[in-house]
Amino acid sequence: MPSPHEKLGRGRSWMWCVKTVKWFPVIFIVSVILWSYYAYVIQLCFFVIPFGLQKALYIILYHGFLFFFLWSYFQTIFTSNGRVPVQFRLPATELDRLMQAESDEAKIQVVKRFAQNLPVSNRTTTGAIRFCEVCQHVKPDRAHHCSVCGDCVLKMDHHCPWVNNCVSFSNYKFFILFLGYALIYCLFIALTTLQFFIKFWKGEMDGVSHFHILLLFFVSIMFALSLVSLFGYHLYLVAHNRTTLESFRPPVFQIGPDKNGFSLGKFNNFQEVFGDNKKTWLLPVYSSLGDGVVFPARAQHQSNLYSSMGSTHNSLGDGVTYPQRCIDEDTDTLLGGCQRWDDQENGCSRWNDPEEAFSRIAFSEHADSDSSTVHPEIMIVD
Ligand SMILES: [Zn+2]
Ligand SMILES: [Zn+2]
Repeated sequence: MPSPHEKLGRGRSWMWCVKTVKWFPVIFIVSVILWSYYAYVIQLCFFVIPFGLQKALYIILYHGFLFFFLWSYFQTIFTSNGRVPVQFRLPATELDRLMQAESDEAKIQVVKRFAQNLPVSNRTTTGAIRFCEVCQHVKPDRAHHCSVCGDCVLKMDHHCPWVNNCVSFSNYKFFILFLGYALIYCLFIALTTLQFFIKFWKGEMDGVSHFHILLLFFVSIMFALSLVSLFGYHLYLVAHNRTTLESFRPPVFQIGPDKNGFSLGKFNNFQEVFGDNKKTWLLPVYSSLGDGVVFPARAQHQSNLYSSMGSTHNSLGDGVTYPQRCIDEDTDTLLGGCQRWDDQENGCSRWNDPEEAFSRIAFSEHADSDSSTVHPEIMIVD
């Protein structure tokens, strides 16, 4: 019989094993990138293309695309998910009540009472407050529990093994840029190796270099084909202000499910992810609007939000210092909702006026550019 100490040691070893395995897809992608660098720069540009303008142009453009591709890729990987604020966590007294509740209905009422002052408009399919039993907090709107990360994630899109991270509120912009730059990188390689592929096909070339170039052409085409569909799909989701999860299961509001519940019009939707500063749209730097906890919704879903926010003083984040990490696999059971805002109050702003709070959360950065975006009532265009 293994002792408890041995069991603990084995458990830790197993955890490290799992953690290492999770990095395999990332290692695979990085290996492909490294090989493509060798094949393109060394084999093609140095050994095959003669000195001249073409060689210089290919090398400069290649490195430019590679730089933005890697930058956005690593930002997606290493940006942590926003954390559900501590205000959403059930205190010990409420937790005791929850544990002692004898029926599901009683549990629902405990969570409902606790959440009455929280700005949550999403509900479970049965109309209950969403609560995460694993993290023991009410789930903010659009947050879900990720079973891979083992935590609740703000505005969770999906868990992506290729970046070994959740794609969520905090790194969604990076993820889309990563797809876009990866696509450009692949298309650039495919187009510039096409002429050599044709030469090889005609029997005008042979040798080791040409094996790499031929393979490079096929691999870049293969990745480009899969990227174009994924990139196009996420552009569609951005335009409609939906996450991948929401596209399969529309968010439920008090009046029922509404797949366009968070849509504010295509340009506003775009700005919610990419920010309102054109200079940063194409750069993988953080510029998304909001705090990942409260999201402006269509007018018909807002009355509840306003009333709930009117009686509380919530810490709502500052739109840039978003909360840190959480994840969830959305069970949406009664006790499947949990919310956190920000565990660090110093990272948040507070507003006593609920309307001011709401408009600032949603569009604080728009206020100067377009007055129509300041008022939620007239933002609902889509
Ligand atoms: Zn959770
Ligand atoms: Zn995850």
